[in-house]
Amino acid sequence: MNPDTATLDPGARPAAGRSIKSLAELEAAALRDLEILDYPLKSWIRPVAREDGAHVFDVVVIGGGHSGLCAGMALKREKILNSIILDENAAGEEGPWQTYARMPDLRTRKSVTGAELGYPNLTYRAYFEARFGAAAYENLKRITCDEWTSYLQWMRRLLDVPVRNGVRVDLIDRVGGVFRLSTRENGKSGLVYARRIILASGPLSTGGTNIPEPIAEGLPKHVYGHVYDHVDFGALKGKAVAVIGAGASAFDNAGTALEQGAGEVHLFVRRPHIPRLSLIRWTDFSGFLNTYADLDDDQRWKLAAEVQRNPSPPPIRALNRVDKRPDFHIHFSSPVSSARMDGDKVVIVTATGEHRVDHVLCATGFSFRLDKAPLFASIAKHIALWRDRYTPESGGSDKFPWSPYLGRHYEFVEKIPGEAPWLKYIFNFTQSATLSMGPTGRVSGLKYGVRRLMIGVGNSFMREDFETHLASVRRYNDSELDGHPWVEKPLAKV
Ligand SMILES: Cc1cc2nc3c(=O)[nH]c(=O)nc-3n(C[C@H](O)[C@H](O)[C@H](O)COP(=O)(O)OP(=O)(O)OC[C@H]3O[C@@H](n4cnc5c(N)ncnc54)[C@H](O)[C@@H]3O)c2cc1C
Repeated sequence: MNPDTATLDPGARPAAGRSIKSLAELEAAALRDLEILDYPLKSWIRPVAREDGAHVFDVVVIGGGHSGLCAGMALKREKILNSIILDENAAGEEGPWQTYARMPDLRTRKSVTGAELGYPNLTYRAYFEARFGAAAYENLKRITCDEWTSYLQWMRRLLDVPVRNGVRVDLIDRVGGVFRLSTRENGKSGLVYARRIILASGPLSTGGTNIPEPIAEGLPKHVYGHVYDHVDFGALKGKAVAVIGAGASAFDNAGTALEQGAGEVHLFVRRPHIPRLSLIRWTDFSGFLNTYADLDDDQRWKLAAEVQRNPSPPPIRALNRVDKRPDFHIHFSSPVSSARMDGDKVVIVTATGEHRVDHVLCATGFSFRLDKAPLFASIAKHIALWRDRYTPESGGSDKFPWSPYLGRHYEFVEKIPGEAPWLKYIFNFTQSATLSMGPTGRVSGLKYGVRRLMIGVGNSFMREDFETHLASVRRYNDSELDGHPWVEKPLAKV
């Protein structure tokens, strides 16, 4: 818990020049906003049945982190009601916040909006102020991970967003005109059918974690791990630990290891220094967030290459967490060229020398390799990637060519037109959409992303069900004027 909020008494309401609500009052106000703005009311998606009677959802959202939750809230608002979110974790443990985000607070500024879908009484600020008061919000520096989790769970409960926890989707394939999702729940296999899929399954679902080759090839698995996986810090007590990477997670994990009793931590950085600029911050303006996806390929590639010309540096708090500790050692200009065992010690070989440690933690991010992700085993071959569609003059990260080349509303595009036309019914709302769509997965991208996503999902139903809607308008026969002498007789019911 962050001391900024942990020390606040929820009961103490500092006086301020604006009305401060209790949580109960806020909830009532938020529900009223939803009710007032609940137009149009009609649910409109054509029901689809399978011959065997199995239920077919309109939309299955895979992943119940903040992206999936917001997508689920927005589907309700758009009256696409036969939808569900599936998440492999227990409620409250979706996403990284309670597990592998080993940082006290979010990197995002507290003023960010988007998750609330534009309802002021559902903003993080309203949620915080209702419990701690406006003055406390003024003093708040950052949103803690615990608070972010609590906020998301609050919205989920209040809006009654349909989430099924503890369900892992193992495979997506296409059967009989709908998607078939093979699931695992409480150790049992199951099948779920859907007309549309929204992938909100986070950064690890589209290719997995990235382990540097020298580590994967040179070391047995028990001496290394990735920081986005479970790490048994208890087992590192008194040990020498190597951390590879220079991003926020590298420093967060170095700090966590030392705070939990590691003997020493050596952090290996490829570059001669930590980059100064967090270029992703530059993208925080509506022109970029709202319209990037509509730029042409060349423009998107060039802008994205600039934004990623250096990796995002850690926040200053992550550096301060370790920089004064005598048991922390940073090694610049030290890319790992190889690694080997020497007895029970790990030898890390870098340009600046050899280092003996007991364990290695890779803070080296994730990859976008749909072809390597089990979830996409039966469909990846059909999905167009940037390398299939665009040849850059230069620049861009290693991930760019492998990024899925998406349509304007997050939908997958076929590699070979005509081979898998149903791919456009899968909407990729994960980080792997970033080159095509701009910041995705990040809190700052939600505001524009969810809106665009809903246009895409809605469009796709309207187009596919066009004949149904045409027949419906032709049959339309309701009028409050019926019976008035000036008014034509109603059409015969068809
Ligand atoms: C350590 C860390 C810190 C970050 N800090 C910030 C920050 O401060 N601000 C910011 O804007 N961004 C941050 N990000 C980036 C981004 O916001 C997060 O990655 C965020 O969690 C993305 O949200 P999401 O809902 O898209 O995915 P996730 O939060 O990852 O949620 C996806 C969910 O889907 C589940 N899932 C995946 N596959 C399946 C499956 N096959 N079946 C069922 N469930 C599945 C996952 O277990 C997970 O619960 C951070 C990322 C990391 C890794």
